Amino acid sequence: MGIGSCFILQSAAKSPTKPDTQTITMFRRYLATAAKSAAGPTIEAADIVIIGGGPAGLSLASAVKTSPVLKDLKCTLVEGGRLVESLEKFHQSPPEFIDKRVVSITPASMDFFKQIGSWDYVKKERTETYDNIHTYDGVSGAKMEFDSPELATMIENINIQSSLYQRIKHLNNENPETPLTILDNTKVVDITEDPQNEWPVLKLDNGNSIRTRLLVGCDGYNSPARKFAKIESRGWAYNRWGNVATCKYKDNEFRFPTGWQRFLPTGTLAFLPLPNNWCSLVWAVPPEISAIVGKLSDEQFTYMLNAAAKLTPDELSYLYEIADKEPENLIEEIKWRLGIFNKTLTTVEQKEDFPLEIDYIVPNSRAKFPLKLSNADSYVEERVALVGDAAHTTNPLAGQGLNMGQADVKSLVETLERSRKRGLDIGTKIALEPYWAERAIPNHVMLGIVDKIHKIYSTDFAPIVWARSFGVNVLNSLPFVKDFMVGEISHKGK
Ligand SMILES: Cc1cc2nc3c(=O)[nH]c(=O)nc-3n(C[C@H](O)[C@H](O)[C@H](O)COP(=O)(O)OP(=O)(O)OC[C@H]3O[C@@H](n4cnc5c(N)ncnc54)[C@H](O)[C@@H]3O)c2cc1C
Repeated sequence: MGIGSCFILQSAAKSPTKPDTQTITMFRRYLATAAKSAAGPTIEAADIVIIGGGPAGLSLASAVKTSPVLKDLKCTLVEGGRLVESLEKFHQSPPEFIDKRVVSITPASMDFFKQIGSWDYVKKERTETYDNIHTYDGVSGAKMEFDSPELATMIENINIQSSLYQRIKHLNNENPETPLTILDNTKVVDITEDPQNEWPVLKLDNGNSIRTRLLVGCDGYNSPARKFAKIESRGWAYNRWGNVATCKYKDNEFRFPTGWQRFLPTGTLAFLPLPNNWCSLVWAVPPEISAIVGKLSDEQFTYMLNAAAKLTPDELSYLYEIADKEPENLIEEIKWRLGIFNKTLTTVEQKEDFPLEIDYIVPNSRAKFPLKLSNADSYVEERVALVGDAAHTTNPLAGQGLNMGQADVKSLVETLERSRKRGLDIGTKIALEPYWAERAIPNHVMLGIVDKIHKIYSTDFAPIVWARSFGVNVLNSLPFVKDFMVGEISHKGK
């Protein structure tokens, strides 16, 4: 039963008899609120307030409003950025080039988007599904291939968000009595506790406030909801920046869409497939290298990428020095070195062990993000739940952050549905605990695995290089172990 309907039913049931003190208090409170709304800032009440219109927040909103059990709840989403305008613009007239913020989603996440009805609104021509990831060790050259039909799909973050927003608009038209309210371009500046019932009260930068039965923090790494709930988040920075860009492969030969990942001691270089021979770059490097490559022109940067895909770590160190001290000589130096290297690739098989070279990158498509691991001590507290990056962040080398967030959303919605069917107050910690119980271990395990991969590959210490290359070669020859790993990475059937 939603807030609004709850109030009406109680009043109606008690109207023939003398109102009790609780009803009088509620009526006074209602009058106080109504008076404020006429004269100044208002305090609204909601069943669920979601902070954050990122992929996690929008999919939670969409899932709640799709659920037959939850859709009548009074639900508000608060987003600090100017989101709606950009999502509408993307939907009406998408830009020519693929955006720099692209993620790899698992079949499980795609199934979830289908289940909540947003996949119908995705611009499919801007996505690329691929069956193969080719990883190779930048020090030893040991390689491993992961093959599975429809292993993952590349999609722009904005394509995901725009499809979710269109779905929400559709649901609001279908359900005009209890639509999802989106407060766009509205920042939560403070969260306090209502002294009457201990519900969170969110103060907004437009002067208004909202009181809520359940606050869901989908508000990213710096989560104000997590701080309000006094939930500790633990982890560490990787001392790496993830450099991203939209790149075009040289159109000199046909290749099936493949994800390429080269593990270098400085960080992972990944080219992930996009439609029409484009690809998305994620290149993790320490801050000092990021600063050097960040100053290069797009053309110099493109040459540096091609070098990073093929040359040895020692050669790359030398090239970073040139990039820093004499960038005008960088392109000639790389051309010469790559010329020698490419001559060693004489057979088709040898050539296909490396990605095609990058021709150019989309102007202004370069950006960088600090990489970190974090995990909250709990994802629930009294009247608060945390979802997505608010709960955990991971190194993007395995492409799992957003996917973990979608699994959180699915689990939280199922938990809320069960609580509601049992007549529980959905905001209580006891009602929320099954969500935490379900997500804690899978997220913890995934964060641990990704962290270990990062650490194992961040060294050129010979015994470790030998051990990891030996391990990779053994794994590569054991198809059933690889199939298990593919299942875990892609969350197939989950
Ligand atoms: C380089 C890189 C590559 C990645 N690649 C992949 C990949 O291939 N696959 C994958 O699964 N994941 C990937 N990720 C991770 C993925 O991008 C994130 O996990 C995901 O975008 C997080 O979504 P979210 O909705 O939880 O948080 P966010 O996207 O951070 O959204 C939080 C929202 O909350 C809003 N907000 C915050 N504070 C307030 C406030 N006070 N008031 C109002 N609003 C507020 C913000 O404006 C923002 O819109 C990658 C990450 C990086 C950096």
